[in-house]
Amino acid sequence: MAEAADVTIIGGGPIGLFGLYCAGLNCLKARLLERLDRVGGQLEHLYPEKPIYDVGGFPRVTGRELIDRLKQQAFQYDAEVVTGVTATNLESTSQQHRIHTNRGIFESPVVIITAGIGEFIPRRLNNPAIDRYEGRGLYYVVNRLSDFDGRRVLVVGGGDSAADWAMAVADRAEHVTMIHRRDSFQCHLDSLRKLEAHPRVSLVPNRSLNSVQGDNEVRSVVLQDATGTPMAEPLAVDRVIVAIGLIPGTQIFQTWGLPLHGTEIRVATDMSTVLPGVYAAGDIATYAGKVKLIAAGFGEVATAVEAANTYLKHRG
Ligand SMILES: Cc1cc2nc3c(=O)[nH]c(=O)nc-3n(C[C@H](O)[C@H](O)[C@H](O)COP(=O)(O)OP(=O)(O)OC[C@H]3O[C@@H](n4cnc5c(N)ncnc54)[C@H](O)[C@@H]3O)c2cc1C
Repeated sequence: MAEAADVTIIGGGPIGLFGLYCAGLNCLKARLLERLDRVGGQLEHLYPEKPIYDVGGFPRVTGRELIDRLKQQAFQYDAEVVTGVTATNLESTSQQHRIHTNRGIFESPVVIITAGIGEFIPRRLNNPAIDRYEGRGLYYVVNRLSDFDGRRVLVVGGGDSAADWAMAVADRAEHVTMIHRRDSFQCHLDSLRKLEAHPRVSLVPNRSLNSVQGDNEVRSVVLQDATGTPMAEPLAVDRVIVAIGLIPGTQIFQTWGLPLHGTEIRVATDMSTVLPGVYAAGDIATYAGKVKLIAAGFGEVATAVEAANTYLKHRG
C-alpha cells in the first residue's frame, strides 16, 4: 500500500493539475492518480495543437501550452504523481478513503475526483464504409494541424468542437466546408460569426455525410440532405474531421456510492459529494447551471480544495 496523503486527486487533466497546485498552496500533502501514461487530459490527448481562447489571461493558448503551464504551476510543490493508474473503486470509513486501482490501494482522508469524461472515446459515425478512411484522410482526433495545410477540408459537426476545428484549420487550408445535420449551428455565436466572415469557410446546414470516395485516401465525399437524399454532385475534399462529440466513459464511478446525473457526479456548491471528504470538480461534476469549460473547472477545484482543507481541520 502506498504512503498516505492528505488528498488524493483522481484524474490528471487540467482540473486535476490545478487542484494539485491548490493543494500545495494550502500545504496539503497531495497525490495525483492518472490512468494514462502522461497527465494533461483532453487537452494533451485530444487537441494538443488546437488554440483555446476562453481561459482568463490567455488570449490564445494551445492545449499543450496550457498543460505545460499547469504542470509548471502544480509541480512547484512536492506532490506524488502516479501515472498508469486507474481508480476502480472506493471504500470509505469515517477516517480514511481507500482507493482501489489496477496498481494497489491508495489511502487518504480526502479524495477529489477530477476524472473528466473518463476514457476519451470520440463519437463515431459507425459506418464501416466511411470509418475505413480513418488514418487515410479521415480524423476523429487531430494531433497535427499541419496535416491540413493547403487541403480541402470537410468538418462534420455543428457544436463548439467542430467550430473550433474549422477555425483552427481555416487559415492553413485551401478551403473548409463545415456541415451540420440540423438547420442551425450550435456553437458559440462569436465562433459562428467568425466562420461566416472567413473567406475560405463555407457553412452548410441540413447536411450530413453520405459516403466517402477515394482509392487509398479521401478524394471526395457525397453529402445528403435532412431526408437522407444524396446530393447529385460529390464535393472534392481530401481531409475530413468528424467532431460530433465524445462518449463519456465514466461508468466506473457508478459503484462508488455517489449519486449520479447520467454519467456525472452530483455535487453541492462547495463541490462536496454525499460521502464526507469526497469532492468532484471539472467535467465529471454536475450541479444546476453547470458549464463544461476549463475556466469553470478551475474555480470548482479551487473551491473543492478550500472545502477539503476546512474538512481536514474540523473532522473528528
Ligand atoms: C475538441 C475539444 C475542444 C475543446 N475546446 C475547449 C476550449 O476551447 N475551451 C474550454 O474551456 N474547453 C474546451 N473543451 C473542453 C475541455 O477540454 C474540458 O472541459 C476539460 O478537459 C475538462 O478537464 P477535466 O480535467 O475535468 O477532464 P479531462 O480533461 O477529461 O481529464 C480527466 C483526466 O482523468 C483521467 N481519468 C479518467 N478516469 C480515471 C480513473 N478512473 N483513474 C485515474 N484517472 C482517470 C483521464 O485519463 C484524464 O487525463 C474542449 C473539448 C474538446 C474535446
